[in-house]
Amino acid sequence: MSRRPFVAGNWKMHKTAPEAAAFVSAFAADVPEGVDVAVCPPFTALAAAVGAARGTPVAVYAQNMHQAESGAFTGEVSAGMLLDAGVDGVLIGHSERRQLFGETDEGVSAKAAAAHAQGLRVILAVGETAEEREAALTEIVLERQVRAGLDGLTPDQVAATTIAYEPVWAIGTGLTATPDTAQAAHAFIRGLIEGLHGVGERVRIQYGGSVKPGNAAELFAQPDIDGGLIGGASLDPADLTAIAAAAR
Ligand code: PEP
Repeated sequence: MSRRPFVAGNWKMHKTAPEAAAFVSAFAADVPEGVDVAVCPPFTALAAAVGAARGTPVAVYAQNMHQAESGAFTGEVSAGMLLDAGVDGVLIGHSERRQLFGETDEGVSAKAAAAHAQGLRVILAVGETAEEREAALTEIVLERQVRAGLDGLTPDQVAATTIAYEPVWAIGTGLTATPDTAQAAHAFIRGLIEGLHGVGERVRIQYGGSVKPGNAAELFAQPDIDGGLIGGASLDPADLTAIAAAAR
C-alpha cells in the first residue's frame, strides 16, 4: 500500500506568535507536492500559526493536551480548546513529556482517546532510551508504548494515527539512527499494529531524531519510514522544506 509521506516540525518551546506566523507564511509558499506537512508551535503561537496556515497545505498541531474536557487542571488545555483555536491535531507522548513531565502510558492512552473523540488528528510518539536499547529492551518498550497509546481506539482511529518512532538517544543529540536501525524499528511497529488492530499497512510511521536536510533522504527511502518528526531542523523554513522534499 502506498502511504502519503508526512513531515511535521516540533518547535518545542521556541517561537513567539509573530515568529510563528512569519515561519508558516514562508514555509507555505514552497511546500513540496506529494507530502503532508505540519508544524507544532507552542500553545501561545497556535492561533497565529492557524491564521497564517489558513488556505495553505500546512497543518497545525499542538504539542500536548489534557485528556479531560474541562475542570480544575491549572495550566492545562483540552482537546476541545485546541479545536476552538483551529488546530488540526496534536502530538502526544513526546519523550520530553514522558521524561521531564512524568507522562505515563496510561496518560498517553487517555489523551489519544480524547483527541480522537474530538476529531483531532494524532501523532503518537514512542521510542526507547539508550539504556533500554543497550539492554536489548527496544522491542519490549515499543510494544508497551504502542499497545497503550492505541488502546481502545477503533481500527479507523488507529489507521488515522501517525506514529512517530523517536529513539530517545537520537533526539537533539546529532546521533541519528542508521537507516537500517530505524527501518527495523518501523517494521516491528507496523507488524505489531497489524497484529493488534489489522491496519498496519495504513498507519504512517514517522522517524524522528536528529533528522537534517543532509540525512533525510536515506532515512525516508526505507520502506516503512513514511516521513519524519523534526525538532531542531524544523525551526528554519528552508530546512523544513528541504526535509519535506526528501520525503516525496
Ligand atoms: C523531536 O524533538 O521530536 C526531535 C526529533 O528533535 P531533533 O530533530 O532535534 O532530534
